[in-house]
Amino acid sequence: MILVLLGPPGAGKGTQADYIQQRLNIPKLSTGDMLRAAAASGSQLGKHVQEIMAAGQLVSDDIMIDLIRHRIKEDDCKQGFILDGFPRTLAQAEALTKMFETEKLQLSGVLEFEVNDAALIERICGRFACAKCGAGYHDTFKPTKVAGVCDECGGTEFTRRKDDNAETVAKRLQAYHDMTAPLLPYYENQGILRSIDGMQDIEAVRSDVEKVLKRA
Ligand code: AMP
Repeated sequence: MILVLLGPPGAGKGTQADYIQQRLNIPKLSTGDMLRAAAASGSQLGKHVQEIMAAGQLVSDDIMIDLIRHRIKEDDCKQGFILDGFPRTLAQAEALTKMFETEKLQLSGVLEFEVNDAALIERICGRFACAKCGAGYHDTFKPTKVAGVCDECGGTEFTRRKDDNAETVAKRLQAYHDMTAPLLPYYENQGILRSIDGMQDIEAVRSDVEKVLKRA
């Protein structure tokens, strides 16, 4: 199965992609994670994208399309994959459609997570993750059971994304409305868009995702 997860930053794409990844045993391809890994590596590409991410802007279509074109050809993608954070512009979506035509792949569905902007800012600004295992938490909505200790691995070091601050989030949301929202009609016209109410709690969203997967 090949799925695209669409929605503004903080809508819950990553959380649900983790769930689908386990449920279907197919990899989640998060372009944000790939770019953060590149930035951490200090490579030439990493240095370039770090500044763009910190400014809440989008990395160029050429770089992103190239990244995905190579990634989907890797062995672990043979049974399908979940795209989390790609495509983010119409040019990326059109390139993806062409890539699938060339590779004879079929997009099974596009899941959109709908959440209003006010809720997104609150969600994003409280996010943090375990530095050891990557488990995600939130100051208000999902704190660790024991303060300062990861529920999953017992780790005591945590990280916050540099771009999860109010100023950058506003720019990321703007980029979503300007550049990514036009993908909704693009996929709706293809009859493969499924919208999910992302304002619900994580379990309720997961149950809606499950219903969509059964029909895809
Ligand atoms: P995310 O983790 O999906 O919120 O992505 C973090 C940042 O990485 C974004 O704010 C962009 O700067 C960059 N990014 C991730 N995916 C893409 C993409 N498909 N196109 C352009 N920029 C991207």
